[in-house]
Amino acid sequence: MTPTELGLPAMRQATTRDPARPDDPRLIDRYGRVATDLRISLTDRCNLRCSYCMPEEGLDWMDRADQLTDDELIRLIRIAVTDLGVNELRFTGGEPLLRRGLEEIIAASAALDPRPDISLTTNGVGLARRAKALADAGVNRLNVSMDTLRRERFATITHRDRLADVLDGLAAARAAGLEPVKINSVLLRGVNDDEAVDLLRFAIDNGYELRFIEQMPLDAQHSWQRAEMITAGEIMEMLRTAFSLEPDRAERGGAPAERWLVDGGPAAVGVIASVTRPFCGACDRTRLTADGQVRSCLFARTETDLRALVRGGVSDAEIADLWRDAMWGKLPGHGIDDPGFLQPDRPMSSIGG
Ligand code: SAM
Ligand code: SF4
Repeated sequence: MTPTELGLPAMRQATTRDPARPDDPRLIDRYGRVATDLRISLTDRCNLRCSYCMPEEGLDWMDRADQLTDDELIRLIRIAVTDLGVNELRFTGGEPLLRRGLEEIIAASAALDPRPDISLTTNGVGLARRAKALADAGVNRLNVSMDTLRRERFATITHRDRLADVLDGLAAARAAGLEPVKINSVLLRGVNDDEAVDLLRFAIDNGYELRFIEQMPLDAQHSWQRAEMITAGEIMEMLRTAFSLEPDRAERGGAPAERWLVDGGPAAVGVIASVTRPFCGACDRTRLTADGQVRSCLFARTETDLRALVRGGVSDAEIADLWRDAMWGKLPGHGIDDPGFLQPDRPMSSIGG
């Protein structure tokens, strides 16, 4: 059986270099984009079960032996930063706070020269007691995911009664100076789509910056439906019933969120319209999964196996060059609206959101 028949993503192994790829040390693709932002999934495990991400019973988690060790991971991060021009690291998962050695991995990343900007995306459970240590280790900024302010709804969406922990985590992150603390919210039709205004008011009143994310076809259950998702347009309409919103004129760069100033600013809200207003043309990301696979896009259907190289005694220079090859093969867009679109085999929780 082929890897694809087994449900595994196609692997791109050591290839002969495309002669059209310029001799450039950075991670460039054939559409002129340069990847400088590395998203690192530290684990595919999670202590919540958000309905738009994974089933209530959880998933078949990755074998520990398949996961990169701390040393292997730190080596790949070093190659990305010192050889490939990556200047931003975002640690995610699964739930990154579940990764043992997280603070050590962050501290090793912060010690690199040049020092990358370091951020973390977390569900906030357990953050209250970790925020200070994370800041001390070198985290610059934090995103906490929270889709509702209502305890029962939180339990319905995540299958865990942990809203109070998340709220404590947010406050601890702010107290630890990890500002601006951002909140990520996904609105689901008929579940929490009446909370757009309440979530924004809560964020503004508490000094957090809210970003709404359009629901994407990346759930393990493959239950996403285009017609069901709440669009950025709908979110804006709901917010405009209570706030005036004007576009933030600041340069957006590769940032996924369209930013809006609320009631004249300085408070702002972001909307990440990955589905209805894709920003692939400005994408500056490369991704590394917990088992050492490089993906050039959340929606990529191919991966490049760096773990095999790391474990096979291959040099830093060769690993860097294979990473460049992977980026050179990046597609121009995610193609969600193409008739032939196929959801990637890996769910968001395993790719790293
Ligand atoms: N567990 C951490 C958390 O929830 O913040 C980090 C990983 S999670 C996959 C990263 C982000 O992806 C979260 O903000 C989550 O809401 C978002 N996410 C997960 N599944 C999604 C989906 N199908 N569509 C849009 N966003 C999704
Ligand atoms: Fe866990 Fe984050 Fe997925 Fe929710 S969105 S189940 S917190 S990985």
